[in-house]
Amino acid sequence: MMTAEMTIWKNGVLVEPAQAVVSVLDHGLLYGDGVFEGVRYYRRTPFRLERHLRRLARSAAGIGLTIPYDLPALAAAVQQTVDAADPEDGYLRIVVTRGEGSLGVNPQGCERQTVFIIAAQLAVVPSDRVEQGVRAITASLRRLPPDCLDPRIKSLNYLTGVMARAEANRAGADEALLLNRNGHVVEASVANLFVVRGDTLCTPPVTDGALDGITRATVMEVAPACGLRVAERSLTLVDVYDADEALLTGTGAGLLPLREVDGRLIRTCPGPAFRSLQSAYRNLVAAESAAAAPLALA
Ligand code: PMP
Repeated sequence: MMTAEMTIWKNGVLVEPAQAVVSVLDHGLLYGDGVFEGVRYYRRTPFRLERHLRRLARSAAGIGLTIPYDLPALAAAVQQTVDAADPEDGYLRIVVTRGEGSLGVNPQGCERQTVFIIAAQLAVVPSDRVEQGVRAITASLRRLPPDCLDPRIKSLNYLTGVMARAEANRAGADEALLLNRNGHVVEASVANLFVVRGDTLCTPPVTDGALDGITRATVMEVAPACGLRVAERSLTLVDVYDADEALLTGTGAGLLPLREVDGRLIRTCPGPAFRSLQSAYRNLVAAESAAAAPLALA
């Protein structure tokens, strides 16, 4: 078992962090030419790995990238990494790049894809953020429209999110909400957005430019048991400012209540819907980690 801060698998084998390097000619680095996934694991069981691997496969298909392992082999590599990691709960990053090529943008010269998996401890969101809620601003940059880079492709092109988060930092906020070209609120830098209005939980449709987040899907799945109806519909900033509650969801952040957006306080934070969803989400994660179902990837 590796006790280093990170456990890394690269192109077929576990490697020491110092050996986990990529070429300066890797097109993932030079051009963002690659795809990735972020996955949580609990008690050495990756949460909803099958969905993450299917999303990775779809992202790769979206940019015409061949993953040099089939999904069962990739799942085995993930498990090998998690089994070697310490402690038994953590965060995984799975990355596939076009690989090393020439200096030019043409992907044709890239002969061998770079595939690596990192198991690490992601800084947990401080509990006061979960208790008191996070502050967000609206970013001045817009999300790329689906006809540019389809948001369903989780590629290494994260610059819009990075710039949005930097803008939030400069404003002393925790997060940034991004609008699409129509002025609809889409999501945060690396998290999906929900607003609660009465007994309805609303989230922007992926066609507005949001990633089809796996935490988003899980929250939508547990919502009816929390007494909430789910509606996927376009949202304006006024829908957010005037919400009873608002929350963000993502693999890294988990569920986070929004306290303030653009200096306006959200009516309730954290509210009863948030508390109920968070507890249902945690119960589901605990149940699935205790009784991991075999993957149906073949
Ligand atoms: N939107 C974006 C842009 C993201 O990067 C993420 C993180 N993967 C999310 C939403 C949340 O998705 P998930 O719940 O699958 O982590």
